[in-house]
Amino acid sequence: MDFELTAEQREFQRIVHDFVAKEVRPRARHVDETGEFNWDAVKKMGPMGMLGLQVPEAYGGAEVDTISATIAIAELGWACGSTALAVSAHNHLGCGPLVDYGSEALKQRWLPSLATGKGRLACLALTEPGAGSDLQGGVRTTAKRDGDEWVINGAKMWATNAGIADVMVVLCRTDPGGGSRSLSQILIATDTPGVTIGPPEKKMGLNGSPTHAVSFDNVRVPLDNLVGEEGMGLQQSLATLSKGRVSIGALALGLAQAAYEKALAYAQEREAFGQPIANLQAVQFMLADAATEIQAARLMLYHAAWLKDNGRPFATQAGMAKLFATEMSERVCRNAIQIHGGYGYSREFEVERMYRDTRLMSIGEGTSEIQRLVIARSILGETRGF
Ligand SMILES: Cc1cc2nc3c(=O)[nH]c(=O)nc-3n(C[C@H](O)[C@H](O)[C@H](O)COP(=O)(O)OP(=O)(O)OC[C@H]3O[C@@H](n4cnc5c(N)ncnc54)[C@H](O)[C@@H]3O)c2cc1C
Repeated sequence: MDFELTAEQREFQRIVHDFVAKEVRPRARHVDETGEFNWDAVKKMGPMGMLGLQVPEAYGGAEVDTISATIAIAELGWACGSTALAVSAHNHLGCGPLVDYGSEALKQRWLPSLATGKGRLACLALTEPGAGSDLQGGVRTTAKRDGDEWVINGAKMWATNAGIADVMVVLCRTDPGGGSRSLSQILIATDTPGVTIGPPEKKMGLNGSPTHAVSFDNVRVPLDNLVGEEGMGLQQSLATLSKGRVSIGALALGLAQAAYEKALAYAQEREAFGQPIANLQAVQFMLADAATEIQAARLMLYHAAWLKDNGRPFATQAGMAKLFATEMSERVCRNAIQIHGGYGYSREFEVERMYRDTRLMSIGEGTSEIQRLVIARSILGETRGF
């Protein structure tokens, strides 16, 4: 691939950067401290295309390429982890399955308002109290046919955006027999009777990205709310997660970039033993490692995005990019605190928030261990070596 961004991608990056620097970054601390969702900024993202990054223009989206979508989420991550997670989940987990698998009627009904910010957000509810990595074996939420409706019962956990969403795509067991074709995705409007959304979970970080438990008590929706093919919910969900991995990696990249910039500036201001600590080789090495790893992660993410845009297999590279970018971000944020010394541990300096925020990225949308499994299976199954 050509590693130069196109003029269009660079211009898009400039526009998004300027916007998030003005509207998102200055609110990041407030959002973290209060748990308030930054609706003001998110509503302004609609007309910019940031709420329908890869939604076709025919449904009101921006339909940008995957590298541009990666750039947008990285810029958001640089500005505010919470807001970035909400927008990433909305685009990739909520709108993604509708774009890829939704019927024409579902697309026309929901995508225009979701993509333009006229409505609220979208979310994807896969995880349950007893099922995260093992969705096939663990999902207990059921959807049973009754006349021309699905009747849904069960409970989901950790649904990002559920409390600020108009719709959720829910993974349900439609065939009690089990097996890889026993699950289906069903779209449920959040105001449907029988849907109960719990209070925002209290978390270590990402406090301005509401995460909820959701329960379904005899929830009735039309059979037409099936997203994609009956029995293909697991495969569809895994494909959605593969795409989402580039986005989560990009979010981690943005957080790492922000922490690195803070550390770089602080190292040149703070003096110890009569000189700026940036003159100390131990500090220089942390900065050099951060700059190197950030660059590596950025290129891995762009490469996975480029493969997808060019219709090439990208799941393994997306897994590698997510694994590296998210673990890299933890190291960089950790060392940014180290460079700040005691002040790094204080809420006054924002690197501690970045460290807390980035900790999720190696858990959500497939843990690091699951990424390693995906990568190992791929390389062991390949006849040509690396
Ligand atoms: C803030 C937040 C937001 C989230 N948003 C969403 C959302 O929008 N939608 C949604 O559906 N879910 C969401 N999740 C859930 C998230 O995707 C899951 O937490 C994640 O997939 C892990 O599942 P689990 O928590 O059940 O852990 P488990 O699957 O129970 O895993 C526990 C540990 O065991 C390891 N493990 C499990 N299986 C294997 C294996 N085969 N080999 C090696 N190690 C293994 C894991 O890596 C992990 O270390 C969110 C979670 C959080 C915390």
